[in-house]
Amino acid sequence: MLLPLFQCLLNGLPLLSSGSAPPIRLRGYIMKDGFELRNSSGKGEGIFATKSFTVGDTVMIGVIKEVLNGNHSHASQVGENKFVLHDGLVTKVNHSCDPNCGVRENETGAHNFVAIKEISVNEEITFDYAMRNYIIDYFPQKCMCGSEGCRGRITGWKDLPDKKKKAYEGFEAPYLLELDAKSSCAKVVGYT
Ligand SMILES: [Zn+2]
Repeated sequence: MLLPLFQCLLNGLPLLSSGSAPPIRLRGYIMKDGFELRNSSGKGEGIFATKSFTVGDTVMIGVIKEVLNGNHSHASQVGENKFVLHDGLVTKVNHSCDPNCGVRENETGAHNFVAIKEISVNEEITFDYAMRNYIIDYFPQKCMCGSEGCRGRITGWKDLPDKKKKAYEGFEAPYLLELDAKSSCAKVVGYT
């Protein structure tokens, strides 16, 4: 899937009204989509790689479609009380407790997915929802990620063990670290 609006913002060009949009240009590199929507066994839909990625590659570019009034199951948390809806297939990426992608905020405030492991063709693209949401309200059921280190339940950043937070360093939404700092300050001054 291509993102003509994002591309036009980058290039300062008018929106293309018809025909197939050219590849996304990002900081001088031409990026072609390397993913598609497929059925993920036992988990409904998921996003799968159609090319391989190496660590540090931007796998999916986030574009904010809408700012929301509150949280819901497809919302991305981008601040303590701020939720947005991403456009396109970004919303279809499934959670894993041992993900192959992390979150990196881009210049528009949206969340890109960046490879934190080598990703092969046909592998499902996943991220840990805790890398994006401080609290998870909408996934009370058992986690279905099937990874060896599965936490059993999809939890938010707030409930992530320190060891895991450390492992995700640099691949979490920036506001999560601000909230951690705020919460440790509150502890020091005895508010909690
Ligand atoms: Zn899991």
